[in-house]
Amino acid sequence: MTSAFQPFQPPRRVLLGPGPSEVPPLVLQALARPTIGHLDPEFLRLMDETRAMLRQAFGTTNALTVPMSGTGSAGMETAIVNLVEPGDKVLIGIHGVFGVRMAEVARRAGAEVREVKAAWGTPLDADLLRKEALDFGPKLIGVVHAETSTGVLLDLAPVRAICDEVGALLLADMVTSLGGLEVRVDAIPVDVAYSGTQKCLSCPPGLAPVTLSPRAEAVLVARKRPVQSWYLDLSLIREYWGESRVYHHTAPINQLYGLHEALRLVLDEGLVAREARHRKVAAMLAAGLEAMGFELLVAPEHRLPPLTTVKVPDGVDEAKVRKTMLDHYGVEIGGGLGPLKGKVWRIGLMGHAANASNVAIVVGALSASLRALGGGPVCDLIKAHTAMAPFTT
Ligand SMILES: *Cc1c(COP(=O)(O)O)cnc(C)c1O
Repeated sequence: MTSAFQPFQPPRRVLLGPGPSEVPPLVLQALARPTIGHLDPEFLRLMDETRAMLRQAFGTTNALTVPMSGTGSAGMETAIVNLVEPGDKVLIGIHGVFGVRMAEVARRAGAEVREVKAAWGTPLDADLLRKEALDFGPKLIGVVHAETSTGVLLDLAPVRAICDEVGALLLADMVTSLGGLEVRVDAIPVDVAYSGTQKCLSCPPGLAPVTLSPRAEAVLVARKRPVQSWYLDLSLIREYWGESRVYHHTAPINQLYGLHEALRLVLDEGLVAREARHRKVAAMLAAGLEAMGFELLVAPEHRLPPLTTVKVPDGVDEAKVRKTMLDHYGVEIGGGLGPLKGKVWRIGLMGHAANASNVAIVVGALSASLRALGGGPVCDLIKAHTAMAPFTT
């Protein structure tokens, strides 16, 4: 008997959206290595090395630093369910989709949640956040460091100052900053941070690095009730990743081979060089798009280098443009989410994919797709594009 099904062959794509991002060959090769046992001494060695590298990437010495089995959202859920008990006060700063999700996760964990909102495309207003924090007295303040839905990078220092003033823990979503920018968890310091493998770490989706400061770990240990999620319970998972190696769940072995290799590549390049590369190619992209007549959503000082949001010109069907880019050029970019749906494109230049060739590819595919669709205001853009000056930084 032979199956009626053929092996799946993914099409050739250039992934320049909000994630997943392109995975380099060395990481793909690592993923394909033979699976070994999850308690094999050699696998335990890989676990230890992976944790050591994760600490470096996060800029921390936190003992409790582990990759959770799940995507970035599992990291978010881990942070909340381990530190929040029913009835706890949680203040979430919302400047995009992922802040909305964080507030929802906190509500489902039984927290009393208050929200401070910013217009999408702008960072949180620290004065508003402080006012609310002083009035509310939260146990934890959660914010998104790199808001992938809007392309805003948030300065965490003022949020830390507010946390210190009211005695709250600081939770930061670093899904799109870890591996792309120096996140400096200990220098800020952040009490609990999480990330995902599929953005600037250039690994497939499937793991969620999480780190807890000693203070956050003490809050976990002092809980009155057990963590509501057995699967995400860090008090159990830290035993598996710690000296005692107590079985909790089977680690996704090959995913961890991939993360180990991806982190090795990040640290080989160096965090400083890596941030500089992301900043340089993001500036090239901005220059190229602006030369074509596009407007960017975010003011230059608040832009998130790995993710650029471009305003869709009036009269342009943004989904058609994305479809043309994918069908004709194999280039994937993202559309807007929530209130930005139909209004922006999201272009990711993340990790391995943050290079000048991809700037040329995405700018070229975008302008050619607009030209192919033709008409109205698009024509003005095309005219501007033909007169476009070379873009470099
Ligand atoms: C992608 C992303 C997430 C969610 O990660 P998944 O891997 O999709 O679960 C959370 N926060 C931010 C800022 C993200 O960009």
